[in-house]
Amino acid sequence: MFIDTHAHIQMREFDHDRAEALARAEAVGIKRMIAVGYHLAASQKAVEAAQRYPQVYAGVGIHPHDAETYNDAAEEALRALAKQPKVVAIGETGLDFFRNRAPRAMQLDAFRRQIRLARELDLPLIVHDRDAHPDTMQNLGAEGAERVVLHCFSGDLAMAEEAWRRGYYVSIAGPVTYPKNETLREIVRKAKTDRLLLETDCPYLPPQTFRGQRNEPAHLLHTAQEVARLMNMPLAELGRLTAENARRFFRLPPLDQCSESNAS
Ligand SMILES: [Zn+2]
Repeated sequence: MFIDTHAHIQMREFDHDRAEALARAEAVGIKRMIAVGYHLAASQKAVEAAQRYPQVYAGVGIHPHDAETYNDAAEEALRALAKQPKVVAIGETGLDFFRNRAPRAMQLDAFRRQIRLARELDLPLIVHDRDAHPDTMQNLGAEGAERVVLHCFSGDLAMAEEAWRRGYYVSIAGPVTYPKNETLREIVRKAKTDRLLLETDCPYLPPQTFRGQRNEPAHLLHTAQEVARLMNMPLAELGRLTAENARRFFRLPPLDQCSESNAS
């Protein structure tokens, strides 16, 4: 049993086969997933997906690329969305100093305000960090964030260890299967096992076997196989471990409960 903790299944890339993609995931043991928002409209669509599909939960947030849209009205809209059924996180939010689509000052402001919003609502925070490792860690610390996942982790081992010291979760995506990514494989070998999550970040970042294609939740299995190999752990045990971590982090209902009964 696996949980895909970061899947953008509400995106238009899945409009032609969303139900089939979810069925393919189910067939390989991906029992739940978090549909993650990245601006208001995408967050609304994530909430709708959670309402429609029993196995889907939602995160609502504004990505650093869209930081310029963050204002009081946007925050109020996020707060309202966060109170909808099956919304289990604020995010994704964070800092992206690689593409710099929004000015850094605005990214920092939107990030800090969403950290505060997550604390106010007692929800975990899904953090996007690209080429902004020191600023990400510094702002999370300054705002007193406690329930944090560093999604699609791209830092080094020292950063992962600092994250684990603080009790943050580190989420591993498809890049762990990329030939050049020895850094990430070394982090997985040394992982704090109760602070590890798995994700696809679909439709982005397909595992090596599917590079160049659209990623989808079922492909989580390829990432999981590589992580299990690196941790020297049977695949089923890794599934139990990481699903339990995800359940604890997002406060999902117990995994043995029939998902239909959790739909409200
Ligand atoms: Zn994402």
